[in-house]
Amino acid sequence: MALMTGEEYIESIRALKLNVFMFGKRVENPVDDPILRPSLNAVRMTYDLAQDPEYEDLMTATSHLTGHKINRFTHIHQSTDDLARKVRMQRLLGQKTASCFQRCVGMDANNAVYSTSYEVDQAHGTHYHENFKKFLTMVQDRDLTVDGAMTDPKGDRSKPPHLQSDPDLYLRVVERREDGVVVCGAKVHQTGIVNSHEILVMPTIAMKPEDRDYAISFAIPTDAPGITLIIGRQSCDTRKLEPGCMDRGNPTFGGVEALTVFDHVFVPNERIFLNGETEFAGMLVERFAGFHRQSYGGCKVGVGDVLIGAAATAADYNGCSKASHIKDKLIEMTHLNETLFCCGMACSHCGHQTASGSYMIDLLLANVCKLNVTRFPYEIVRLAEDIAGGLMVTAPSEADFRSEEVGPLVEKYLKGVDGVSTEDRLRLLRLIENICLGSAAVGYRTESMHGAGSPQAMRIMISRQGNLEQKKKLAKALAHIEETEE
Ligand code: SF4
Ligand code: FE
Repeated sequence: MALMTGEEYIESIRALKLNVFMFGKRVENPVDDPILRPSLNAVRMTYDLAQDPEYEDLMTATSHLTGHKINRFTHIHQSTDDLARKVRMQRLLGQKTASCFQRCVGMDANNAVYSTSYEVDQAHGTHYHENFKKFLTMVQDRDLTVDGAMTDPKGDRSKPPHLQSDPDLYLRVVERREDGVVVCGAKVHQTGIVNSHEILVMPTIAMKPEDRDYAISFAIPTDAPGITLIIGRQSCDTRKLEPGCMDRGNPTFGGVEALTVFDHVFVPNERIFLNGETEFAGMLVERFAGFHRQSYGGCKVGVGDVLIGAAATAADYNGCSKASHIKDKLIEMTHLNETLFCCGMACSHCGHQTASGSYMIDLLLANVCKLNVTRFPYEIVRLAEDIAGGLMVTAPSEADFRSEEVGPLVEKYLKGVDGVSTEDRLRLLRLIENICLGSAAVGYRTESMHGAGSPQAMRIMISRQGNLEQKKKLAKALAHIEETEE
């Protein structure tokens, strides 16, 4: 099948029988729900841009399995050039949506499971890689969106999965059958799951043999029996229910997360990609996390581009764009943002081939990338708020702006420079508010901290990959200190 159009994608999600809850009620029609729709629009952009000849090189690729033209979000990286194109594609999507466009999690999960399942088969004589290739061919041919599901609730962090007082706090196999397994548990913070066709589940931590039932990876449709999606609350989300769109800041796009519960969900054998080989759980986690840490060197940079542009426009509207401190702040924001892009590019270009033939990033540099992402967007937000001014959070509502009684007062007193309407000035400030503190702040701020792992996870990887011993040798060699055998 050819690439799906944006409209076909929307209708394909509408055809799913998802079990979604929000504000304590079942959502009968998630596709047209005003709170959820912007997140669907953001994923749709991954389909719309793939149809545009201008972006063909970034948005599409050739499948190494079928030779067909596919969306890059379903591609398995075949070179370091593919890895770099992935990051550029994510920057483009960030620029077009100023939000989390969600489809990367599945792309990163696909790439992690592809290479890991190959190595599990080599070690154990299993058939997970063949299973996965069949699943992936279907995903590529039907141009599906996959939710990559890694993070378990984890309960008491000091205890491994099998010692939790509630054994469901890590997703696990509760029954082994001839034709497959039955699983129970949950995955938290599931980005874009309500806009996905399939869920690709992976374990969340490295495991010991006692955790065998928890070392499970598989894919199932998002509307499989036993799955419940409980939508995450976002700052300012109910503004999407109000008339007008000014106060939403970014009325068209957004991201979405959900707590995803698996209650005795059956998984057939052919959809299983790891089942009890605990020693490979760590490899799968490391690879998925590495790919997603690379991703942030693209998507957050694209949103950063929008925020820098919005801050610069706010300065124009306030009449202070020529002030030297404003210019300096915009340069600082650009420097920080491009530093993140450098990290995304570096870990891609320094990538290497895996035993399966696919390519993965340089893990050390991908972790450096994401550790910077836990900091720089916060500083970029601080500078954007500095330039925007306090009106970003004190401006009256659109309803006041439209009011016959007080609207003219808002219009008169919140005017900036001549030639720019008060309405445009307020729209722009609301966009900045949306990215810095509103619903897009989930994707630009807190997700920068915790998405793809919290900062300490990167520090641990950096300490493992940093090769301190080799650095000591360099220093000793230059100081003419002889290496002694210990
Ligand atoms: Fe993609 Fe970024 Fe959202 Fe992750 S946070 S799914 S990389 S847009
Ligand atoms: Fe993320």
